[in-house]
Amino acid sequence: MRIYLDSVGCRLNWSEIELLAQELARAGHTIVASAAEADTIAVNSCAVTAQAERKTRHEMRSLHRDNPQARLAIMGCYATLRPETSARLPGVRWVIPNAEKERAGDLLTNLAQSPGRPGEAGETLETMRTRAFVKVQDGCDNHCTYCIVRSLRGRSRSRLMADVVHEIQMLVEKADAREVVLTGACLGAYGQDLGYPEGLRSLVEAVLADTDVRRLRLSSLEPWDIQETLFDLWDDSRLCRQFHLPLQSGCDDTLRRMGRRITTEAFSRLVAAARDQIPEVAITTDVMVGFPGENQAAFDTSYAFVEKTAFAKIHVFPYSKRPHTPASRLPHHIASQVKEDRARKTRNLARRQRCRYRLRFLGRELPVLWEKQRQDGHWTGWTDNYLRVVADAEQDLMNQITQARILSAEKGHLRGEAVL
Ligand code: SF4
Repeated sequence: MRIYLDSVGCRLNWSEIELLAQELARAGHTIVASAAEADTIAVNSCAVTAQAERKTRHEMRSLHRDNPQARLAIMGCYATLRPETSARLPGVRWVIPNAEKERAGDLLTNLAQSPGRPGEAGETLETMRTRAFVKVQDGCDNHCTYCIVRSLRGRSRSRLMADVVHEIQMLVEKADAREVVLTGACLGAYGQDLGYPEGLRSLVEAVLADTDVRRLRLSSLEPWDIQETLFDLWDDSRLCRQFHLPLQSGCDDTLRRMGRRITTEAFSRLVAAARDQIPEVAITTDVMVGFPGENQAAFDTSYAFVEKTAFAKIHVFPYSKRPHTPASRLPHHIASQVKEDRARKTRNLARRQRCRYRLRFLGRELPVLWEKQRQDGHWTGWTDNYLRVVADAEQDLMNQITQARILSAEKGHLRGEAVL
């Protein structure tokens, strides 16, 4: 089978697609780089917001347009939330909800006409990526009132530490991955269900001790899951100096109605501890605007807190009503125009803060993992503290980690020169 895999939504979705690619390649199938070359297409879908749902439907329709002969499979959160609608999307032959996702490889393989050479694990997506997403946990035991993830992905459950460590070492040895990103629906809850006393901390320690991975990055972490002692581990320069800590709101009253298990005071304390322990760490976040009942005063309070905290990057989301969530039944939903105005104002703040963070590194050197060469011949990659750098170099920098001297700040990236 010639299969094209794609994903909409979070890094967790991507890491699941990468795991599926490995499995299908081991089963003798060929992972192709475009939908046009495929006889089967599988998409890991998303339903975290109404916009994500629209994006999923759009993606499915455009893949069918690109290759009307191909058989389409839709899996993941949208397929779980909207199974009937999924089944009616053009070209869709299989709807695989989250509960069945772990069997996706078998389900798709059963479609296979003639398996190819078994065991060619090297021919996977990984060879096309310098940074590999590794799923270590799924599901969530929290009750944020706006969130649909828990009902779509179920209770929190962790992978065995030995399996994760083994997979990462395989990615380093077989796919030459230089950076691994640990992902989960609620990554900070890693190991709690397995009785690992130190949870995520012990996993990070094990990966650093038992693998040769050059860079280790953590994806989104709920702030209440982090002990300040975790930051001690960042003495090891293999750990990327970035924490994505969703704040959602800078107003305590709104946080309470969101069911968030954190206060702004506790959030500030955690950020201060990270900045004390890890110089120039990038604190990135998610901020929601227009949550039901967020009156002007509450928005102003939240905005002022975000302004004071000075993030390196902010993803801004207008509140999106999700079916069957407690927040959807709250009174005082905010008018769309007001939500858009607040989102615009907060995105302008986010741009200013991002720019201020980037300017701190002019004239300095930062480690960059070079990911690809652009059509104009320039190389582009990411620093460990999550800044995109573009540089001109004669040498082949593909999948190399080098120091880069930061020369200037341009739209969307830093201009640098690789120090070789
Ligand atoms: S922690 Fe909250 S926002 Fe995150 S997945 Fe769980 S319920 Fe959703």
